[in-house]
Amino acid sequence: MAEVREFKTESKRLLDLMINSIYTNREIFLRELISNASDAIDRYHYLSLSDERLPKTLDYEIFIAIDKKKRTLSITDNGIGMTYDELIESLGTIAKSGSLDFMQKLKNKTDKETIEIIGQFGVGFYSAFMVAKKVEVRTKSPFSEEGYIFASAGAETYEIEKAEALPTGTTVTLYLRKNSKEENYDEFLEEYNIRRLVKKYSDYIRHPIRMKVKKSVPKLDDDGKPTDKYEEIEEIETLNSMTPIWKRRKSDVTDEELNDFYKQKYFDASDPIATIFINVEGAVNYTALVYIPKKPPYDLYSEHYEKGLQLYSKGVFIMEKCKELVPDYLRFIKGLVDSSDFSLNISREILQQSRELEKIAENVEKKIVGRLKDMLKNDREKYKEFWEAYGVNIKFGVYDRFGLKKDLLKDLLIFRSVNQDDYITLKEYVDAMPKEQEYIYYASGKTKEQVLSMPQMDIVKKQGYDVLILTDDIDEFAMQMLFEYEKKKVKSVNQGELDLLSKEDEKKLEELAEDKKSLLEKMKEILKDKVTNVVFSKRLTESPVCLVSEDGISLEMEKVIANLPSQDKPKASKVLEINPKHPLFTALENLYNDNDPMFEEFAELLYSQALLIEGFPLKNPAEFSRKVSELMIKAAKY
Ligand code: ADP
Repeated sequence: MAEVREFKTESKRLLDLMINSIYTNREIFLRELISNASDAIDRYHYLSLSDERLPKTLDYEIFIAIDKKKRTLSITDNGIGMTYDELIESLGTIAKSGSLDFMQKLKNKTDKETIEIIGQFGVGFYSAFMVAKKVEVRTKSPFSEEGYIFASAGAETYEIEKAEALPTGTTVTLYLRKNSKEENYDEFLEEYNIRRLVKKYSDYIRHPIRMKVKKSVPKLDDDGKPTDKYEEIEEIETLNSMTPIWKRRKSDVTDEELNDFYKQKYFDASDPIATIFINVEGAVNYTALVYIPKKPPYDLYSEHYEKGLQLYSKGVFIMEKCKELVPDYLRFIKGLVDSSDFSLNISREILQQSRELEKIAENVEKKIVGRLKDMLKNDREKYKEFWEAYGVNIKFGVYDRFGLKKDLLKDLLIFRSVNQDDYITLKEYVDAMPKEQEYIYYASGKTKEQVLSMPQMDIVKKQGYDVLILTDDIDEFAMQMLFEYEKKKVKSVNQGELDLLSKEDEKKLEELAEDKKSLLEKMKEILKDKVTNVVFSKRLTESPVCLVSEDGISLEMEKVIANLPSQDKPKASKVLEINPKHPLFTALENLYNDNDPMFEEFAELLYSQALLIEGFPLKNPAEFSRKVSELMIKAAKY
């Protein structure tokens, strides 16, 4: 008796979507089912290396059969199959932690984007319902006595029953939908069309994809010689070419072929930004094919994202995501490494300690960075595209592991700056520095506009020095880690000392500070919970006040840290700087001299203003607004 079960909720929604959407690209179902079959064979093979229970087999195959009368298409593999539990887990659920994410991603997407997402998520099996009114899966796992038949018409439920005498592996049979005026499903019963789809989507699948095909051949006479009469015979043919592209000679492979391979393998509609084909023979031997996708994977920054390159040994697949091959800052790369230096049944633990693997990883990393440097030098436009997609990662690389990689990566950094419309490199910045300029200046904020309007910029702008503009969270962390470039230290315009005044002006300012010491002390007393110091500013020219930080954690870093989930949230030491030349200071001074209680309010207001300019929230906005209102009323009375 067949047992009837219900699909899990998300699966139902997904099924609905598959069935009711009009895909321009329904044909991808075949690719999905073939990939599943190929994965199942890989898993069988991998397990058979170490598990005695699995007989070693060398004649792996994926077999496609067409039955025009029954209008069915079936895909059979001699892979790992599924046990009863696996069947429910795999086909009755989208057993993926990302399934809800997936549904959300799918909202409001075009068909093309949907297809891309489907590929990335691997909800492939369900795509069968785009063309089938009913799907049957016959499967037997080598770990289970029994085989099972799963059947579903794609509605709410599916059925499972036991089946006798199934071979190990899986057959997925699609009962094609009825043709309608708009849709012709019979095309999936045509030999030539299946052949075309296999070539198009699954040519590099490394197991043979076979099908019985009809051929017209000359009839033979009694002596075995061909006559001019023809007859139709049936023959089993392998449809895919299988030779992995990276096994071919570099000079024989065109860029277009490499890109096509990428697009097929990673279900991307666009060519990658860069393709890096590496062939190394010597102390280590390997071939690597690495791609930088045009767009970052949508889940690159989610915790589910797994970095890694596929690992092969002499063309045989070992593992899907070998993370040891990819440094964190390059986590967005895709591709594979094939090396004859590993044995097939190498365990993960041994692999991790393998010196060869480490060498290959280092080598691949260098080649990628080298390629990026080339691109920066020879194709700035393309590099900008790369930077806009992945610059954050490179900056993270400078910061990560206490700056271990900063020398390797510093020349990959590009910046927006105050004086330039386009990005510049650190080298270009340093080369353009006037002789007397000592530091590489930078300023950080949310946007370029905000940075440009910061009061702290006044003096640097006045000097005509260029200032790098930092707008990403990671930027200041990376800059502080970088520390210097070509012996020029980096310096924030809103942190620490800025020695840009002439000796005379500086002296004057110091004398003034001495003179007004009691006023400054008084302000410091009033604001003691908020700032560590109140000083006359060496950087302001137009604005009345600004907030800067002492060396260490900067104001922008404080904001970033505040958003992190950690318990311990260190803060910047804030210094309130006052512009003694500003009329507001004169007003402040008058209040102080008159012992006016308003002095305290002014001090608080100035601090609040400085906070606002820096983009910090006020602790008590209502209070601030009340005080400003009072002042406005007073002002209006005059
Ligand atoms: P994905 O392949 O991305 O995991 P699918 O929906 O295509 O998503 O398949 C879900 C799961 O069903 C697979 O992960 C696999 O465990 C199982 N599966 C699908 N097809 C086969 C098959 N031909 N042989 C064995 N297991 C399969």
